[in-house]
Amino acid sequence: MSELADLVQQIEPHPKKVSDYVAKHARRGDPADVLATMDRYATEERFLMNLGPDKGALVQELFDRLPADARILELGAYCGYSAVLFASKLGPEGRLVSLEVGEESVEAARANVEFAGLADRVEILLGDSGESIPTLTGPFDMVFLDHWKDLYERDLLAIEANGLLKPGSLVVADNVGESFNPTEYLEYVRTCGHYDSEHRESTLEYHTLPDAVEISVYRPSEGA
Ligand code: CA
Repeated sequence: MSELADLVQQIEPHPKKVSDYVAKHARRGDPADVLATMDRYATEERFLMNLGPDKGALVQELFDRLPADARILELGAYCGYSAVLFASKLGPEGRLVSLEVGEESVEAARANVEFAGLADRVEILLGDSGESIPTLTGPFDMVFLDHWKDLYERDLLAIEANGLLKPGSLVVADNVGESFNPTEYLEYVRTCGHYDSEHRESTLEYHTLPDAVEISVYRPSEGA
């Protein structure tokens, strides 16, 4: 666990360095190159809590289940890595809304999305997710939870209460391996009766430490 603690200690806010690095080294209008450049930054410069390239196959599997015009809600934009990745897999009618509490992260994520040529389908909102969620209009085809791990359960409850899901919506929670101890969230999606939930082992981004993703399909009619 000390290896994880060391990694997390390295994580200090430096999103502007990432967007500056992308602007300097990536090809404008090329989402794949923007992602590759961020991967390079994370491995060569400094660890980033990105989705990372190792979960690429899983992401492709999710997008195979979504329509091209899907609406996606992301919690935690950070530097815009997953926003660029997800938006690049949507058609021109698809939309991604990302909620992010860090001001510098919002600026970096917007810059990276814009640099990748995807600004027309991505909106990044600054603010606490608990305050932003009630302002949203659903439903979303996929919700991606990747912000503070102890807010996953609170925010999923708010997402449900605000009618942002529909039957079949995917709720995907990143970093739910044992290192992060997200017991309450996992217990909720597995036992509340509203989801078919599946645990997928993976490794932590840019690392060999074990991690996991929980994929939960919203099935309200099968519930209480
Ligand atoms: Ca993550």
